[in-house]
Amino acid sequence: MKKTINTFDNNAKALTLDSEYRLDPATGLWTLIVEGREARPSNTGRNDVESTLLDSETQRDPCCPFCLGSESQTPETVAKAALRLAAREKSEYVIDDFEIVSPTPTEEFDKSDWFVRVFENKYPFFRMNSTGENVPTFKAVERVLTSNESTSNALFNSISGRGRHEVVVDSRRHVRSWSEFTELEAKLTFRVFRSRLRALRDSGCFAYSFVFKNVGSGAGASQRHSHCQLTGNVELPPDVGREIERLIRYERARKTRGETASFWDAVLNAELQARSRVVDFSERFVVYCPYASRFPVQTEICPRFNVPFEDYSEDAIDELALLARKTITALEEAKRRFYPDDPSPLDYNVVMKNVPARLTSDLLEGVGLARPRWLILPSIVKKAGYEIGCGVDINPIAPETAAQLLRETF
Ligand SMILES: [Zn+2]
Repeated sequence: MKKTINTFDNNAKALTLDSEYRLDPATGLWTLIVEGREARPSNTGRNDVESTLLDSETQRDPCCPFCLGSESQTPETVAKAALRLAAREKSEYVIDDFEIVSPTPTEEFDKSDWFVRVFENKYPFFRMNSTGENVPTFKAVERVLTSNESTSNALFNSISGRGRHEVVVDSRRHVRSWSEFTELEAKLTFRVFRSRLRALRDSGCFAYSFVFKNVGSGAGASQRHSHCQLTGNVELPPDVGREIERLIRYERARKTRGETASFWDAVLNAELQARSRVVDFSERFVVYCPYASRFPVQTEICPRFNVPFEDYSEDAIDELALLARKTITALEEAKRRFYPDDPSPLDYNVVMKNVPARLTSDLLEGVGLARPRWLILPSIVKKAGYEIGCGVDINPIAPETAAQLLRETF
């Protein structure tokens, strides 16, 4: 009997890894200290070149832990997009031939039916700590430094890292980028995202869960085979909390001013009116290069409707999946045109900015104000001295130029 993905097992796992958020008393910035991840296998040397071992028919690389047939090299499957039994004999598949399931250990032996596969990261940022423990929030710890209480003026403050860290192998073929995905693979990937994020949300264990993708060693990937990562954070990350605070302040001001459009509707309306930074739009989504893009050719996909990603309809999920694939394809083509002498593939990150599943009591006014959006960030420049020195990023390509470039290749 297959259990559905929604029955997420939130039993606390033994803490075998210590990671710790530490607060810098001078800057007020948090760092997650995680030892042991350097032991993770990397095929960085092979990351940016095609494998010579690749079987062109099956598109498998026998040395790759993420390819179909190498499942024993990774932790056991937590969830997978699997072919329904009834569809096994078909020669061509459609999206309805698949179901997203959490396999039991015995079914795990039937390894050949997955198209997207999820497992716990062997080298996680954090693991579930013992539940029920009363851990202070980031804000409570930040307040310690400036508290008048003489007993709580310690300079070195930390919170243990608690959460869940999963890997999503989004193709069973040894491909590198979303631009190489079939329509079916793209749709299955986003349906698995929705399923896993819904399971994490419904478990009630996590304040903030999101998906990200690193492609190429320049973007931090340690494996060439296309994959994504998903984290469930027990605590609301400080940056996300600050964004919610800004949304609350905007919301109060807009009501005072008597304006009707919420923050995200106002931003998208303004971008659509200006047009210069818009790459494409539909009834549901806008693809654009934000006004104050921190990175060159930073591109965002933002929904025009206010629904949590976990509750998207199939149609919305499928449209988003194809739009993400199309955006990556356009970015890669733009790179080829912009740097014709550089044959190396584009390195990039995709980062989902999700809506928090749980807000701290001081931010409850922010419920419903955030919107799930997708940032696509080509790795063209690295943070250098100026950026580190004053915390302001330098972007050498104006978003208007970037959008123009992308409109031509979209
Ligand atoms: Zn592979």
